Amino acid sequence: MQKTRNRNEERAEHWLRLWSERLDIRCPVRMERTSIWQVATTDGRRGCSLVGVVLHEEEACIYHTRRLTEEDIVHELLHVAHPAWSEAEVVFHTARILSARRPLRRQAAHAAVLMRRLI
Ligand SMILES: [Zn+2]
Repeated sequence: MQKTRNRNEERAEHWLRLWSERLDIRCPVRMERTSIWQVATTDGRRGCSLVGVVLHEEEACIYHTRRLTEEDIVHELLHVAHPAWSEAEVVFHTARILSARRPLRRQAAHAAVLMRRLI
């Protein structure tokens, strides 16, 4: 059990390093596992699964109650890189980045075209 958890954490650390570099994230980003019992919905229900990022002044923290996937990490890092983006934009670009797997410079140009179409 302990071994599996460590391997998952190592994998998440690897994705965090990789995607922080690719997305040109300048501030330090850490990950913090939290209990589902610390998470409450707006109506006060506890015991919810959650993955979310909080931007502090000089760092960001990805809080998660479950094992992080590569998609989670790309999604949360896009929130860090583009705080003004809507949730829909982040979801859209996460899918695009993960499915495209093209050289990143071309992806960025492609994204700029798509964004212009969205506006
Ligand atoms: Zn989001």
